[in-house]
Amino acid sequence: MIAGVTATALAPTSAVIAILLALTGLLQAAVLITRNLTLREQLPAGLHPVGYSALYAGSGIGYGLSAAATGLLLTTTPALPSSSLEEAEFWVGTFHGSHDGLPAKVTATRDDTRPEPHVWTCTCGASRSFPTEHGVWPAAWRHTHPTRYDRLRSWATRRSRTAR
Ligand SMILES: [Zn+2]
Repeated sequence: MIAGVTATALAPTSAVIAILLALTGLLQAAVLITRNLTLREQLPAGLHPVGYSALYAGSGIGYGLSAAATGLLLTTTPALPSSSLEEAEFWVGTFHGSHDGLPAKVTATRDDTRPEPHVWTCTCGASRSFPTEHGVWPAAWRHTHPTRYDRLRSWATRRSRTAR
């Protein structure tokens, strides 16, 4: 069952995902029924509430673990470019983070036809270009993962802007 769910995360097409989910769901239904019947047989009637509580606590932990596993898979599986790219433009990398209290996504691209081929653009509208690939990744990373100092600086900039 766990293998089925994991395979779902790595499946290439939605059709495969649908089949895997259906199979996993069938398995899970069987497991649930067997588990509940077994518990009823093994425990004296007076202990049924305790047994079922423990059972649900256990499945709660299971949900937590599978959520953690999903998170790990999502961060280790390379993200595909979601936006359409110009013809001469190559997708280089995507940075997920946040700044100013909002989620931000930076897409880095390379296009040899531009005067500065290396460019990243953020979902907030910010964009920077670089003549070489050096500097693109650190700057994109820092934009989506601002340090305490960066946050203080952008806060100060906003304040001075609204004060004027
Ligand atoms: Zn931004």
